[in-house]
Amino acid sequence: MNPLLTPFDTAPFSKLKNEHFMPAFTQAIAAARAEIDAITENIEAPTFANTIEALDFSGQQLDRISSVFFNLNSAETNEEIQNIAQEVSPLLSEFGNDITLNEALFKRVQTVYNQKEDADLTVEQQTLLDKRYKGFSRNGANLDEAKKTRLRAIDAEAAKLKLKFGENVLAETNAFQMHLTNEEDLAGLPEGEKEAAAQLAKSKDLGGWLITLDYPSYIPFMKYAKNRTLRKKLSLAFGSKSFKGDALDNQENVLKITKLRHERANLLGYATHAHFVLEERMAETPEKVHAFLNELLEKAKPAAKREFKQLEEFAKELDGIDRLQKWDGAYYSEKLKQKLFNLDDEILKPYFKLENVIAGVFTVAEKLFDLQFREVFDIDTYHPDVKTYRVFDADQKFIALFYADFHPRAGKRGGAWMTSFKSQYIKDGENVRPHISNVCNFTKPTATKPSLLTFNEVTTLFHEFGHGLHGMLADTTYPSLSGTSVYWDFVELPSQVMENWCFEKEALELFATHYQTGKLIPMELVQKIKESATFQEGMQTLRQLSFGLLDMSWHAADPTAITNVKTQENKAFSGTDLYPETTETCMSTAFSHIFQGGYSSGYYSYKWAEVLDADAFAYFKEEGIFNKAVATKFKDTILSKGGTENPMVLYKRFRGAEPKVEALLERAGLL
Ligand SMILES: [Zn+2]
Repeated sequence: MNPLLTPFDTAPFSKLKNEHFMPAFTQAIAAARAEIDAITENIEAPTFANTIEALDFSGQQLDRISSVFFNLNSAETNEEIQNIAQEVSPLLSEFGNDITLNEALFKRVQTVYNQKEDADLTVEQQTLLDKRYKGFSRNGANLDEAKKTRLRAIDAEAAKLKLKFGENVLAETNAFQMHLTNEEDLAGLPEGEKEAAAQLAKSKDLGGWLITLDYPSYIPFMKYAKNRTLRKKLSLAFGSKSFKGDALDNQENVLKITKLRHERANLLGYATHAHFVLEERMAETPEKVHAFLNELLEKAKPAAKREFKQLEEFAKELDGIDRLQKWDGAYYSEKLKQKLFNLDDEILKPYFKLENVIAGVFTVAEKLFDLQFREVFDIDTYHPDVKTYRVFDADQKFIALFYADFHPRAGKRGGAWMTSFKSQYIKDGENVRPHISNVCNFTKPTATKPSLLTFNEVTTLFHEFGHGLHGMLADTTYPSLSGTSVYWDFVELPSQVMENWCFEKEALELFATHYQTGKLIPMELVQKIKESATFQEGMQTLRQLSFGLLDMSWHAADPTAITNVKTQENKAFSGTDLYPETTETCMSTAFSHIFQGGYSSGYYSYKWAEVLDADAFAYFKEEGIFNKAVATKFKDTILSKGGTENPMVLYKRFRGAEPKVEALLERAGLL
């Protein structure tokens, strides 16, 4: 028996063999297709129940198998699993396309959509209907044949260009290396970084040290290397990626991609690509994004200028630097930060033993939301490191299953994330509870030393746990609207807001005790953490805003007349530049987030999410960070609601008003 094709509640890891996956996928895709066919072949007139609802509950077996498989591929993979992923991915995207392009299905969805005023739908049902309908219309279902053909051609060409864009950036990154043979050239770098550079040289059969444009090599060099000439060389190499007029240049690709996106948006009836994207975002319109970015800019700029002046003076005093350049920023900022705070991870780590931090985050969840986490040992896991918890509410009602997988392994990708093995939904009167997982990469304990977290890792744990709560507390009817299935610029609110508790005395008192002495973390250390967290916040803000403005300058207006990438970029940067301009560099030609990845018209979201979490946490601060009424309201209006309503409506119901930038400015010390 294939354990994936036998109905299961918790994922049957111990019975799983790699050869189970492909047959399970094949059979589950066939079953999902049959469910879709049953909807389109239904002789009854289309209704919400027999079409939209039926569609949302279709393919559940496939979803469960996919989540088991792809979570394994992220957290405990091997070559065989990776090969299966290669094999199954095209099948899954083909199946997805077959649904989006299914005309019979669209006809039924459209009929229900056109009759929605008379259908007496709940708010959640209206949201689901809109989402389904737009899933078709935004892919051209309403266009005539000629326009449909053009849309497919645009999509195919844009996909190719995006791929080419990424390949060029990668090739440029790999083409550059700075080989150093004189140890003096590495002066300033910490021993660990020097070792890494020596290792890198060795791996390429070279002596000495090698510095590349990969972040783990590039960032430390810019931050610590004393040699200004080499910093300049590295910085210009980094900034001129795919901007040298050679075979790897991306200027043409940038122009082509933005023009195709604009044309696609126009075909579908949107004024610009940004209008198209933002229709399904909390921010809703380019006007709103611009107003948001410009308001923040206006308010952060004085602080940024002050900080820049301070940095200039510091560099002048230290090394007689007359004009601070781009390649000086990271270096002198790091020096200034050391001077002002002298905050070392090693001083903080003893207060953040992993077990204590986990107990701390659970206590915070209990104080806020009455949740109780009980570790259990009868749940199948994919690795002995994975811990499992049953989560209950105050009435001992089962809320969720929680998996926690904290330590790095060969088969786990880097970073930290939240995911789920089973989503929450309500069917036939039963509220099916979710299986949620947090995966991180914290140092493993040894026989003599426990796992001690850096402060950054502590906030990461709280962050992912916040996403976890969004999943665990979900309480919606339809699986595709449940938990973290929300608009993209809203999904970081539950996670980022949780990070705030890590900075509060009242919360730290619950868990931040020295692993040997049991002494509570000194509050002057906490104060230092807070201050250093907002170090150069004005400059950082300006930097983020400049990327958001650049993104919008490419996507929120007709790009047809743009011929020069650098000129367009300079225009976008004119209000945010602090450093002298360098003619040989260009950001757009290597801005993979927006030209290769999925962030186009979405870069503003980073700051947007910060404003949201600061504004939400300000409410907690006003009433007390463990105030039950505010926490319950947060659970009832946000955490349990998933994507069942427009996030702005949800947020206003929680906060009583739209989010304001002031809370962020105040937290960042910019007011
Ligand atoms: Zn996140």
